[in-house]
Amino acid sequence: MKSYRKELWFEVPTRRCFVNITGEVEKCLHESGLKEGLILVNAMHITASVFINDDESGLHHDYDVWLEKLAPHEPISQYRHNGYEDNADAHLKRQIMGREVVVAITGGALDFGPWEQIFYGEFDGGRKKRVLVKIIGE
Ligand code: ZN
Repeated sequence: MKSYRKELWFEVPTRRCFVNITGEVEKCLHESGLKEGLILVNAMHITASVFINDDESGLHHDYDVWLEKLAPHEPISQYRHNGYEDNADAHLKRQIMGREVVVAITGGALDFGPWEQIFYGEFDGGRKKRVLVKIIGE
C-alpha cells in the first residue's frame, strides 16, 4: 500500500463561503499516482467543513440561509462559547456540515455519483486555514 499526504491552504475574505475544491483534490490524486484506493479530505479547523454536494449557487444560498436560521451569528450574546469568542455559530455550523469526506478512487479518478463535488465550507473566515488530503491505495 502507498500513501500520499498534502495540506491545502485557504484564506476566505468573507465570514462565510463555500469553495469548490474538487479540482485541487483531483490534482492531489494525479500527483499521488494512485489508481485504486480511498481519499480522505478533512478540514483541519473546527470552524470549517468539507462536504460533498451539488455545485449550484441557489443551493449554496439555501445552505447559508438554513445554517443562519439554525445558528445565527448574531446576537453573539446568546452564546456561551469561551465567554467572549464571537464564533460559536461557526462551530455549530461546522458540526452540521461535517468535518470530512471519503471518496473511492477507481481507475485513477474520483468515483463520484451524479453531480457530486467536494466543497470547503468556511464559517469564520478572514484567516488562513488548512484542509488535509490523505490518499491510501495502490
Ligand atoms: Zn471558537
